[in-house]
Amino acid sequence: MVDPWFICNARLPGRADLWRVGIAGARIISVEPQDDGGGRDLGPAWDAAGRLVSPGFVDPHLHLDKCLTSQRSQGAARNLDEAIRAVRAIKASFTRADVAERGRRALRMGVQHGTVAVRSNCEVDRSAGFNALEGLQQASREMAAQVDVQLIAFPQEGWFDTPGTIEDGAGSYVAQALERGVKVVGGNVNASLWPSDPQAQVDATFALAAQHDCDIDYHLDNADVAHAFTLPYVAEKVIAQGWQGRVAVSHIASLAQVSDAQAAQAIERVREADISVCVLPTRIRLTRVRELMEAGVNVACGTDNLRDPFVRFGDADPLKALLLLAQLTFGLDDASLEKLWSMATTRAARMLRLPDYGLAAGCAADLMVIDAHSVPQAILEQSTRLAVFKAGVQVAGPMQLQ
Ligand SMILES: [Zn+2]
Repeated sequence: MVDPWFICNARLPGRADLWRVGIAGARIISVEPQDDGGGRDLGPAWDAAGRLVSPGFVDPHLHLDKCLTSQRSQGAARNLDEAIRAVRAIKASFTRADVAERGRRALRMGVQHGTVAVRSNCEVDRSAGFNALEGLQQASREMAAQVDVQLIAFPQEGWFDTPGTIEDGAGSYVAQALERGVKVVGGNVNASLWPSDPQAQVDATFALAAQHDCDIDYHLDNADVAHAFTLPYVAEKVIAQGWQGRVAVSHIASLAQVSDAQAAQAIERVREADISVCVLPTRIRLTRVRELMEAGVNVACGTDNLRDPFVRFGDADPLKALLLLAQLTFGLDDASLEKLWSMATTRAARMLRLPDYGLAAGCAADLMVIDAHSVPQAILEQSTRLAVFKAGVQVAGPMQLQ
């Protein structure tokens, strides 16, 4: 066995007092109270001096294929329809090398902020073909020592082919992407955007998930109107197919527009179906975040678009997303900030079903050391990530610990 080393005098999220974290090779081997060490010489140690040590960030919702392209379009789109058309125009120029290069750059940004795992959408359709997918598969392989990448085959252009409308038949491309090794079926289910039946898209994606034994991750009900409300149907589908714990939905903005009674009923079914909800504070009007959390739903937070026609700003930093989310949900007290932390760490890891994520003996040594003495301080002050570890090896941060 490789010699262990230790981070001592560490503050850990959600725990009082000081701790000593032991690491050997790619794994955490111990997490013990600091004062249990006695005079034993345990091996080489770095003194965190009361700084925060946390499992690294998990960014559960990205768009790496179109990231860093904002300079290729004329300006910010005013609505979803315009943004889709703007991306369609630039997507035709995507090459595998171009997508791989931008994907690597964005992944590297995330790693420098402490991100150890991501889930990214990848558009497959008439405009992009499979260039974006091949580019992101390449970037994922090249970055594998620094960050885990899951890809979703995402039908940004709409599932069905409806001539004369914006809906451009990406469903058949998604099916082919699963043949090419993608493990997560995407959907862009939005009753106010497409002319087709949203439930028919849900049925088609669940059938594909069953056929390929895949998880599902939707952009769902991304509209500030009560009538674009397919969430209850998705929850029923999950339960009927036995896909509990395997489905995630992002946005569900319309949940904030329906009546309180309708919302309460839907939230209960979402909890029963064990659907993870991803909120994205690049959007101003969010869903019912607090009610979902209070009901016991697994809610995660992602960074979303990164300098593209949808969102012209960003640097893939989950800590910034948490601060934005705290502001938008009025969650700036200590207890709320502690909860928010889990949305970019443990809850996001649960959404991605990462098997060995956490801060306990046996977990992957995917950690970050932050120049703060508590979680609230880290979020409010946007503290520096001093060191980031992937599988026990330091991959970012100005402070050399090993
Ligand atoms: Zn998105």
